[in-house]
Amino acid sequence: MAIEIVVDPELCMGSGNCAFWAPGVFELDDEGISEVLSVGAQPEDKIILAAKGCPTQAISVIKDGEKLV
Ligand code: SF4
Repeated sequence: MAIEIVVDPELCMGSGNCAFWAPGVFELDDEGISEVLSVGAQPEDKIILAAKGCPTQAISVIKDGEKLV
């Protein structure tokens, strides 16, 4: 069960919500844009929660080819 996480840097406005809800998975880079550090750092439900909580819908979560968020 492979999870893939994609952050669209054009949509990310650096709120930091994702890094708050799923630390270790998301981290803000030097320019305040979220990047994916480690997909396995948090359980799937936390990752989905973080992705759904993104105010600009910049995060996509894909599992086994199916887009969850
Ligand atoms: S929650 Fe969305 S807008 Fe906020 S830092 Fe994460 S990806 Fe960017």
